Amino acid sequence: MSAAATVKDLLQQAEQDLRALDSARLDAEILLCNVTGFDRSRLYAYPEEIVPEHKAKAYMTLVNERISGQPVAYLTGTREFWSIEFSVNQHTLIPRPETECLVEAALEHIPPDKTWRIADLGTGCGTIAIAIAKERPDCQIMAADISHDALMVAVTNAGKLRINNVSFVKSDWYSGLAGPFELIISNPPYVREDDKHLSQAEVRHEPMLALSGGIDGLQAIRQIISRAPAYLTPGGRLFIEHGCDQGETVRSILAGHQFSEIGTRTDYAGHERVSYGRVFHG
Ligand code: GLN
Repeated sequence: MSAAATVKDLLQQAEQDLRALDSARLDAEILLCNVTGFDRSRLYAYPEEIVPEHKAKAYMTLVNERISGQPVAYLTGTREFWSIEFSVNQHTLIPRPETECLVEAALEHIPPDKTWRIADLGTGCGTIAIAIAKERPDCQIMAADISHDALMVAVTNAGKLRINNVSFVKSDWYSGLAGPFELIISNPPYVREDDKHLSQAEVRHEPMLALSGGIDGLQAIRQIISRAPAYLTPGGRLFIEHGCDQGETVRSILAGHQFSEIGTRTDYAGHERVSYGRVFHG
């Protein structure tokens, strides 16, 4: 590409280079916005605008990384969740839209005037804790993760978003937590370790610790559910995300650990995705 590349030239070239991906055009645009600081409408309004050479070079580097399978979110360092822009990096799972169903389900059970203590287990970049903290400013959220690197990202996100009602703790599920909590919420790793999905180009770049739930995918889910009653107040609730084929098993694990009022919600694709229950004695 010559020194005087325009927006249009760069996009055309990148779209061609990324043609193996369904999202080639969109990815090309998002990455160019990231490098230039333009928004997408400007790319369309001023296609003849010249992109300075150093930015054009930086763009081509990003496009090449994208070709090698790096997810767009890691290249731009951001992903939107709950209409909030979160920083992400290779130490954190990239937030998925279906996890918004988990937040929605929990919020329905947190009346706006409550001053509850809530725990988010395996917070990653902090999406669930921060979304709930924003919607329920009088609640205190304890966001836990075993990964120091992930917690650093979560702490940065809370700071940038000026969220003051979340505290962060390094914790192997409950090890660093002091209960009781009115509500526990978690999007734990739940993919079976032999699931082909884990070796897909993009997923390969995400932390295995945040994805793999062991041999049957339920290792973390079992630990979280079995110990939850000891950390919940009487009448406290647990909300947990799981794989689309794990609903029945998760409901039976809940039933086996003193939970009642058990149910499951589907995600936007109609798959069973979030199960919950309530416990009346720890
Ligand atoms: N839904 C994610 C995936 O399929 C997995 C998220 C998780 O394990 N918590 O990649």
